[in-house]
Amino acid sequence: MTDKKGIKRRDFLKLSSTAVFAGLTGRLTGKPHTGISTAAYTIEEAARAVGELPRVKLGASGREVSFIIGSGDLAEAPREAGILCGMNYWHKANRWARTGVPDSILKNREAHYCQVTVDRVEGDHYVGRIDEEEHYQFVKEMVRQTGLGYFDDMQFHFGYHSTEELKSERGFVRAFERLKKQGLVKHLCLSQHGYAGNSRVPGGQSAAEVLTAVVEDGVYEHAQFMYSYGADPEMDKFLEFARKKGFGTTAMKTARGIGRMKKDQAFIDKLPEGVTPHNALMRWLTTQSQVDTVVMRVRNLNEFVESYSGAGKTLRPKDAQAIRMMTAQADKTACRLCTQCQPHCPQQIPIAEILRFERYAVDDHDWRKARDLYARLDRKADACVQCGTCVSHCSQGLLIPDRIAAAHALLG
Ligand code: SF4
Ligand code: SF4
Repeated sequence: MTDKKGIKRRDFLKLSSTAVFAGLTGRLTGKPHTGISTAAYTIEEAARAVGELPRVKLGASGREVSFIIGSGDLAEAPREAGILCGMNYWHKANRWARTGVPDSILKNREAHYCQVTVDRVEGDHYVGRIDEEEHYQFVKEMVRQTGLGYFDDMQFHFGYHSTEELKSERGFVRAFERLKKQGLVKHLCLSQHGYAGNSRVPGGQSAAEVLTAVVEDGVYEHAQFMYSYGADPEMDKFLEFARKKGFGTTAMKTARGIGRMKKDQAFIDKLPEGVTPHNALMRWLTTQSQVDTVVMRVRNLNEFVESYSGAGKTLRPKDAQAIRMMTAQADKTACRLCTQCQPHCPQQIPIAEILRFERYAVDDHDWRKARDLYARLDRKADACVQCGTCVSHCSQGLLIPDRIAAAHALLG
């Protein structure tokens, strides 16, 4: 069972380079409703406003990991504030090969879990291949370039296409085992996307199908996948199964549709007083969902305080009301990326991928990434013949032809 208790104050103070937490009395300031704070926080003030991040046990190793995990591409200020709050797991830590490992992590290496994220070779996550030797050499090189000495976790990025591939392609696992013998990695994990109905991935299956097989396979310790608020029976079933088996789970792409909601002032004005979408979501994820840890993207200290200050806090009735309102709103506008519609499209349009890229643009404001990824698709939304078949397979009842046409207009 996951332990969502906060870390002890004594341990917490040890993690902090300065005792900024003497009195965790920080207060979220700023405009009510929008959550866009006008306060200019220092790193210490932001950390004080968020306080101790709850810790959980992740996977069979029982390692105690901050509920919110960080990433190698997190901006410096929220990263340093996160460290002061006890953030101790770093996804994509090999990104620091380019920029240098932050001193605050390098000087306290044993207090942090650093993950190397490994892609397929000779192609992208649709058509690239698994290659034991190349993965082995890549990780060795990343250990050398970062100077971290070893990686705690080796992650297979984007995951397996199908349960069949998991069984037959063991090159990634073999590369891990070789590196583990040399003390260069310790734990095996993956991030899993859904490939059901993807025209570039024959025989592709949903993330939940592959993840269930991964847990049964017993080699991987934990996994990261798309999950957010609102009904998701397939992933909820998987989460229950994972928890029973002691398999660790991390939710990513958690803030479904919140970016666009914040631009809709009429919607924001209807939210209960003193509630912001990211903060309510963090409360919900920490206290009501079955995930062990989450990735929630923040760009600056204001977003850090707004979002992360909800971690471990009670979901008040007004937060629950906000989550219900957000769900109703997001279900009309923002795809949850489950891929259930895709196998039913006669044109084999990668609906979930298109709507994932649209989320990068509209919610995360990452237009360049969204347009680059969209340009690389071999089949785009303009191949849609408006047959409507997909709509009845979307649990959200999303008007898919309209949504992908809008995405094409934005990204095409
Ligand atoms: S409406 Fe468009 S996206 Fe939906 S199934 Fe038909 S062709 Fe595919
Ligand atoms: S459009 Fe609907 S069914 Fe398709 S991936 Fe998105 S949420 Fe799932």
